[in-house]
Amino acid sequence: MKNNLQKVADVILASKSMIAFTGAGISVESGIPPFRGPEGLWSKYDPKCLDLDYFHSNPKDSWIAIKEIFYDFFGTAKPNKAHKVLAEWEQKSLLKAVVTQNIDNLHQQAGSKTIFEFHGNSQKLICKECNRVYLPEEVNLNDLPPCCKNDGVVLKPDFVFFGEGIPEKAYNNSLLFARNADLVIIVGTTGEVMPAAMIPTEAKRNGATIIEINTEESNYTNRITDFFLQGKASEILEQLDELLSPKI
Ligand code: NAD
Repeated sequence: MKNNLQKVADVILASKSMIAFTGAGISVESGIPPFRGPEGLWSKYDPKCLDLDYFHSNPKDSWIAIKEIFYDFFGTAKPNKAHKVLAEWEQKSLLKAVVTQNIDNLHQQAGSKTIFEFHGNSQKLICKECNRVYLPEEVNLNDLPPCCKNDGVVLKPDFVFFGEGIPEKAYNNSLLFARNADLVIIVGTTGEVMPAAMIPTEAKRNGATIIEINTEESNYTNRITDFFLQGKASEILEQLDELLSPKI
């Protein structure tokens, strides 16, 4: 592992257009469980609460689960070392962008600036009728479902539900940066959710090297990954940062 880490640090240092592609695993050490697996959110909640049709026909039921998961719980999470290292690498011009599947706002809180949120952001609520955007603290989440002050329409969290399209700008920018990347560092994702999962594959097709950090093998590991670093995101990124810091 030690030699491998040094090799990966050298590859990162030599890169010119590295991007990160992150998933739920990077936020596990901030206390946010992933969706899948024995401890995952879907072992406690029914995924139908995030189904667009179900939400439209049962807004109150959906909102009860949404409030618990994304506001009572996500709202208190803080960025961990993994988010912070990526933000520092961007500040030092080593990292060009973060493409994230996460909706927890933790990359922003850690200080990352160029972020493409493939699945939107839970820390905004939107009225799909008039497009007015609210912060969670601007609405009363004790009276569900929350409604727009302009037109009374039920507010929707501004992240992508099952059955909903990807935000166009995030989609196009993610693809653009992936196609121009010479190195992708994948952190904490199964690579199962499409179309997000194609981002590293698209980069690889255009010649990028792929580094992967995960506690377990993923869909990418034996297919496109060049360097697999097994372990917790915060620990591995901290170790890489220690090797890189004297040189950047
Ligand atoms: P996932 O839940 O399918 O998989 C999580 C991955 O993280 C697994 O591969 C697991 O082995 C790995 N992992 C777990 N702990 C880790 C750690 N400490 N360090 C490194 N890796 C670790 O998540 P996904 O692949 O990102 O896809 C699920 C979808 O769920 C995404 O679309 C995302 O929007 C959404 N989601 C987001 C959040 C969030 O915003 N934090 C949380 C749950 C789900």
